[in-house]
Amino acid sequence: MLRIGVLGGGQLGRMLALAGVPLGVCFVFFDPIADASAGHVGELIVGKYDDRSALDRFVEAVDVVTYEFENVPTAAAEYVASRRPVWPPVGTLHIAQDRLREKQFFNALGIPTAPFAAVDSKESLRAAVTEIGAPGIVKTRVLGYDGKGQVRLASLDDVDSAWDELAGAFDGVPLIYEGFVAFERELSILSVRAQTGEIVHYPLVANVHHEGILRLSTAPAPAVDAAVQATAESYATRVLRELDYVGVLAIELFAANGTLVANEMAPRVHNSGHWTIEGAETSQFENHVRAVCGLPLGATSMVGHAAMLNLIGTIPPLPALLNVADAHVHLYGKREAPRRKVGHVTVRAASAERVQDRVAELRRLIASAVPVGEAAVSATFA
Ligand code: AMP
Repeated sequence: MLRIGVLGGGQLGRMLALAGVPLGVCFVFFDPIADASAGHVGELIVGKYDDRSALDRFVEAVDVVTYEFENVPTAAAEYVASRRPVWPPVGTLHIAQDRLREKQFFNALGIPTAPFAAVDSKESLRAAVTEIGAPGIVKTRVLGYDGKGQVRLASLDDVDSAWDELAGAFDGVPLIYEGFVAFERELSILSVRAQTGEIVHYPLVANVHHEGILRLSTAPAPAVDAAVQATAESYATRVLRELDYVGVLAIELFAANGTLVANEMAPRVHNSGHWTIEGAETSQFENHVRAVCGLPLGATSMVGHAAMLNLIGTIPPLPALLNVADAHVHLYGKREAPRRKVGHVTVRAASAERVQDRVAELRRLIASAVPVGEAAVSATFA
């Protein structure tokens, strides 16, 4: 039986195993946290990423390695790669972990991004805002996720306060300033490359974020014309070929007036692809497993229409969720905590209208389940 090792043991790893076990593959996860949620569906090796003896035990238990978390320290990934095949290639992490390198990489491939500049002092932030213009966003180059490590800036007058806020909270972390993209909506493209070089793409997905966290994905994204889908596919294809990539890649895009600007990429299965479990012929998780194992890829065509709602912070009563027609519930076995992704629900139905009705019903349920306070605001993101 082929054994896949996964660096990271969160819900993405858990869903990889749920998709891979039926193919006769077994899973070993590596995570610093003893109650990591993937531990319920495979073996879990607990260790810090710089613990060589724990990494050795992991490597010896597996045939091939992937990750479900792009902030795996590259030294750990490189060490593992010296002993086992690792997909996607470790060099991808180096790019995806740093917003500056990532944007430079996109631009070098002819993929447009927001205008940007590296900043390392209040003066260089002022110079960047003067050159690029405002409004814009200052972000940490590394380790930012779910909207953390970002400050919006309306004009040059905000330079001091933005700098003090970010530099105070993330002392010494390099920053990037990005011009604000006046997008109409946010889309993502999920693509898969096999070891043979074959590439497949899922239909573009429309994503709604609130407080920096993905709340709702709708697939296919409404009113996408063939040219926009083709543009997104061509961006993804360039990235996949350039990196000699194997596995699922997600690229987050800003869309306006038929143009697409890349925001960031995730070298792994992605939250905006969870709908594929019920809404596509082959899920992103199964296709990632197939790619990593050197198996043929599966069809990415849709099965009806789909939408996915994240459960953030609180899980509504399970019977109530299950009573919603067309709803498919996924709970991650994680403790409830503010801003934490604890599950998701996918609605799949024959028409987009029916999906939207179910989504409205689920949103009411999610909002009413949340205790009054900070989390309630997040749940009623409309
Ligand atoms: P990120 O962590 O880069 O994905 O940013 C989180 C969210 O902030 C994105 O999903 C967008 O809604 C918004 N955002 C980030 N960068 C920009 C930008 N350059 N222009 C406009 N909105 C942005």
